[in-house]
Order: sequence, then C-alpha cells, then structure tokens
Amino acid sequence: MLRRLHSGFWALGVAFGSCSVPRFYSSRLGSELLRSQAYIGGRWLDADGRAQFPVLDPASGQQLTAVSDCGPQEAREAVRAAYNSLASWKAATSKERSNLLRKWYDLMLKNKDELARLITAENGKPLKESLSEILYAASFLEWFSEEARRVYGDVVPTSSPDRRILILKQPIGVASIITPWNFPSAMLTRKAGAALAVGCTVVVKPAEDTPLSALALAELADQAGIPAGVFNVIPSSKSKTPSVGEVLCTDPLVAAISFTGSTATGKILLRQASDTVKKASMELGGLAPFIVFDSANLDRAVAGALASKFRNTGQTCVCANRFLVQEGIHDSFVEKMVKAMQRDLRVGSGFDELTTQGPLINERAVQKVESHISDAVSLGACIVTGGKRHSSGATFFEPTLLSNVTTDMLCAQEETFGPLAPVIKFQTEEEAVTIANASNVGLAGYFYSSNLAQIWRVAEQLEVGIVGINEGLLSTPEAPFGGVKQSGLGREGSKYGVDDYLEIKYVCFGGL
Ligand code: ADP
Repeated sequence: MLRRLHSGFWALGVAFGSCSVPRFYSSRLGSELLRSQAYIGGRWLDADGRAQFPVLDPASGQQLTAVSDCGPQEAREAVRAAYNSLASWKAATSKERSNLLRKWYDLMLKNKDELARLITAENGKPLKESLSEILYAASFLEWFSEEARRVYGDVVPTSSPDRRILILKQPIGVASIITPWNFPSAMLTRKAGAALAVGCTVVVKPAEDTPLSALALAELADQAGIPAGVFNVIPSSKSKTPSVGEVLCTDPLVAAISFTGSTATGKILLRQASDTVKKASMELGGLAPFIVFDSANLDRAVAGALASKFRNTGQTCVCANRFLVQEGIHDSFVEKMVKAMQRDLRVGSGFDELTTQGPLINERAVQKVESHISDAVSLGACIVTGGKRHSSGATFFEPTLLSNVTTDMLCAQEETFGPLAPVIKFQTEEEAVTIANASNVGLAGYFYSSNLAQIWRVAEQLEVGIVGINEGLLSTPEAPFGGVKQSGLGREGSKYGVDDYLEIKYVCFGGL
C-alpha cells in the first residue's frame, strides 16, 4: 500500500527516517526542490514498508540523502495512475498542453541554480556543466511546447473518386521512461517533453545514482500545473530496478518504452517489451570515432577533441572514444592535445569553480577506465599523460592520453565512458573509415578536414546517426539525436522526436 507523507519534510541538517543529512550537503543540495518520495498520481508517496535507498556523493562515496525505493507494486500503481489520466490529457487541446510545458520550462529556468546544484551533488559534474545541462534540459520543454501545436496529419489524394483519405496522428498511450545518470535532467525532458506534448502520459524510472534531479522536476511539473497522473516518477534501487523495469516493459497498460542507457540493458528491455509488442525507443551506447585528417585545422581539432572527449569527465554516449589521426599530423596533434589537456583540464570537486573534471560516477566506472589502460599498455600502447587515479579521491581519474593504440585493444572496441583518449595512427582515408565503421554500434562520429570532397565522402560513409564535421559538441534540441546499428532505435529532439509517441491512423471516408 502506498502511504502519503508530507512532502515538505526538508529542513537544513534535520534527520528524517533513519537518515540524517550532514549540514555540508544540505546547504549544497538546497532546500526547495529536494524530494525523497515517489511522485505518483500527483501525490508524494512512500514506497511499501517505507523502503528507501541511499543517494551517494560520487566524489566521496558518502550518503547525501535517501529516497523511496519503489518496487513492482509501486510501478504498477504508477502505470495505473498514468493510464487513468490518459483520456483527459489526450483530450486537452494542444495549446493547453503547450502552455503547461511552457510553464514547466519557465520554472526550470527560475530554479536553474538549484537544479544545477542537485546534479553536481548526485552526479559530480562541475557546476558549470550542470548549469549547461539544466539549460539544455529546459530547452526540450520549450521545444516540445512549440512542437505540440504542429503535430499535423495529412489529407491524401485518392484514386477512388468517392473516397477521401485522412491520416491522423494520435498519442500512443502510456509511455515508460527509463533514464541514465549521466544527464539526469536532460534525458528526462528530452523524452517526457515529447511524450507529454502529443498527449501521452508517462512513468519515469530515474537511474539509481541520480534520482534527485527527476524528483525535483516532478515538483516543478506539479507547480506548473501538469495534471495529476500525467507525469509520475518512481525512484528505485539497483536491486529493485530489474523487477520495476519488467513491469514498465510488460504491463499491458503501457504502450511504449523509451530508454537511454547501455546497449546490454536496452536489449533486456527490448526482449521484455516484445511480448506485448510495445513501441520502443532506445538511445544506447556508442564508440564515437574522432578522425583528424592531415588537412585539418590543428587548433580547431584539438579544441574539438578536448570538448568532445572530456565533457562530463568522458561520461557521455557521444564522447569521442577512439581518436584516429592521420600520420602527417599525428605527432603535432598528440603534442598539442597533451599540452591542452595539461593546461585546460582541472580535476576536483564539481563544486569548485575551477574544476573541469569531476569524479566518475562510481568505483565500477573507475575500474573500467583502469582496465582499458592496463589492457592497452600490455599490448604496446604508451601513456603520454595521466594513466592513474587522481589524488582528489578514489573516483577521480587523471585525464589520460594513450598513443600507439591499435584496433585490437579494448579501448578501441568498447565504450570507456571515462577520461581516456586513445590515439590510433592511420595512413589513408579508406583505412580511417574502415576502422571507424568496424563496430556493431554507431551513435556519433566526428572528423576534421578542410578538403570539401573528403568532407562529403566521409560524412556519407560513416555508419553513425550523428556526424560532427569540424565540430566536437553537437547536441541541440532542433537536431535529431540517435544512432544506427546497436546504438538504438528512433530519434529524440527535433521535429522527429514526437514520432516515438505517436500512432498513425488511416481514416477512409467512403461513399462520397
Ligand atoms: P550503466 O551501466 O551506465 O548504469 P544502465 O543501462 O545499466 O547503464 O543504466 C541506465 C538505466 O537503466 C538506469 O536507470 C538503470 O537503473 C536502468 N536499468 C539497469 N538495468 C535495468 C533493468 N534490468 N531493467 C530496467 N532498467 C534497468
């Protein structure tokens, strides 16, 4: 049974349940938007048995706070709440939905500093990056508040004179949304903004590492006047997540599942969703190649490489994972890149203004970086800079560049998701494209060149969903985000972002 508790429990340094929050954290987390309960059917609720799980500071491993630990029962309650509110939400006019999304957007901007602090607290990313994420996240609510009013159908010419063909676009129904920890706000709004805009209702399961941002967004959705049951959030611990995921992917009341995370988890969810044939939208892993051709503008390539590789301490699915550098420019690229890394990257607490590299999300993430480095070194790679944990703490890692990397090394085959730049030297364009495409995933790909013919050739040949030409940072709400091969299904953002939440209905008028 779900029990309602008072939501405004928070006071600086005050104990709640069995968990007391140190003053140090309470001042950083802020007091207005911190929520610890699930948000279901417009109410803040405890999980059964008042179960909670801890939210940790990735920089220290210390507990920040604790939140309700929802299981399958709460997941079913949330799905039911979303289903019950579906009829009225889809019957609202697109302008009404648009206005509410816009209010939600305005509230995000109004609370941007506090939302950013929450991200830095639970994710560890530098405050400046957290603020960028909030603006980026809010931009999807703004974008989809605008798109809500442009979900056009078609009137199609017919070959039968007594018939007319209409094509309607209608909301698919309840959508389950499972989000990752690396962009705890932006991945939520990119999905929920699109779903709500077209008349779907949603149940969000945030990543266990970062539930606070999702709960804060629920509070703002509530303040914006989004009706009860339209937007639900059920935090869940790592151990309960599989059973919650199963409900979200199999409950007959759910029509669609939208997921961002690892390819391995995406495959589990796809399998589960297949039994009831749910529509699936998957943003999965990448292995982004970053190719620097001899004709590249070297300074621009180095700046782009730094931005693409080290944003969020290398923990994004579009981060450059493999640097392919042509032999003529190779040595000067490595030299300049190392200088730039040593000059511009600063490891430390995300709350320190000078920090550009926060901690990795957890110990497991650090071990993966270490294993990629030791594997590469054992096969002949050289550590040019970095290579080990940073003195700031166990989850901090030195920005690292490896040279002499070959395609048989783990770091060239698997997403590292950390601050590791492995450099592979190549000779010809054909060789670079072959290496870049030798992967079963294809999300983002980058290359630097000033040869126009080469630019067209390579842009067309790269087997990815997103191409950056002489650019290292590409994400924006106006452009479609998504991958090919095992990087996923569907596109988010852009005018295509609503498609995953819509059904197309053919209506035939006869006897005219
Ligand atoms: P990572 O390994 O980087 O944490 P995951 O794909 O495991 O990436 O996590 C992304 C999201 O998927 C998180 O919200 C996580 O809780 C969720 N998740 C992980 N395993 C499952 C599962 N079996 N069912 C449903 N959700 C899952």
